[in-house]
Amino acid sequence: MNIVIFGAPGSGKGTQSEKLIQKYGLYHISTGDILRKEIQTGSELGKIADSYISKGQLLPDSLIIEILDKLFETTPETRQGVILDGFPRTIPQAQALESLFLKRGMKLTAVIGLEVDEPELIDRMIKRGQISHRSDDNLETIKKRLDVYHLQTTPLKEFYLKNGKYKAIQGTGSVDSIFETISKALDSIHRD
Ligand code: ADP
Repeated sequence: MNIVIFGAPGSGKGTQSEKLIQKYGLYHISTGDILRKEIQTGSELGKIADSYISKGQLLPDSLIIEILDKLFETTPETRQGVILDGFPRTIPQAQALESLFLKRGMKLTAVIGLEVDEPELIDRMIKRGQISHRSDDNLETIKKRLDVYHLQTTPLKEFYLKNGKYKAIQGTGSVDSIFETISKALDSIHRD
């Protein structure tokens, strides 16, 4: 099983990913976590990543695609199935993912689209910022990230609706009830 978890910043991708990993034994690939680790260690890549993340902008496609490609190359666990969290975020990234999978004989099972309205997203990220101290969880950067999401990432929904992979999931309610909806959607695909 290879899943993309998709949704606006603050939609709960990370939270639901954790539960999906436990249930289905998938390898978690969170591009945001990868980049934040690089920032923490102060690497060259971390410095570049920080200059985009702190402004709420996306990293250049070529850079993030290269990171992903290298990760698949060097991580045999990815062959047991992956959950992609934070990638793809643009159409070129989605196209790159197709060839990345094709090259390795992997197939995309589904795109789980967590749908949450904007006031709730802003509220969640402000609350998260108070705990996590993420440099991008402040009101100004949150608004910028939502603009970027609408402009660059939402076209992906259409892309995955067209190829029949997109599964819309209401991302509000309790963590467990959302997870149950996701599990049901995935189990029904698996039975087909
Ligand atoms: P969220 O979805 O809550 O905004 P993430 O942790 O997924 O948080 O991403 C944080 C930031 O990392 C993004 O705003 C962006 O700057 C960078 N980033 C993560 N994934 C990608 C990607 N696939 N392409 C470009 N930039 C990315």
